[in-house]
Amino acid sequence: MLKPVVDWDTCVGCGACAEVCPEVFQLRDDKAWVIGLDKCNTCNCQEAADICPVQAITVTEE
Ligand code: SF4
Repeated sequence: MLKPVVDWDTCVGCGACAEVCPEVFQLRDDKAWVIGLDKCNTCNCQEAADICPVQAITVTEE
């Protein structure tokens, strides 16, 4: 199963990932949290990873 991981040191809290995948990512305290891993059933979060302006999201195999 593929799983997105957010590097909080890199995340700038722009909210782009939460806009693309609101069921998977949510902004809390200006950082993106993965809140719904099981909701990721379309692009395996690759779209969110691609849209992140600072490449804070990596998609790893679990
Ligand atoms: S798109 Fe990237 S920088 Fe923006 S909130 Fe999401 S993880 Fe953080």
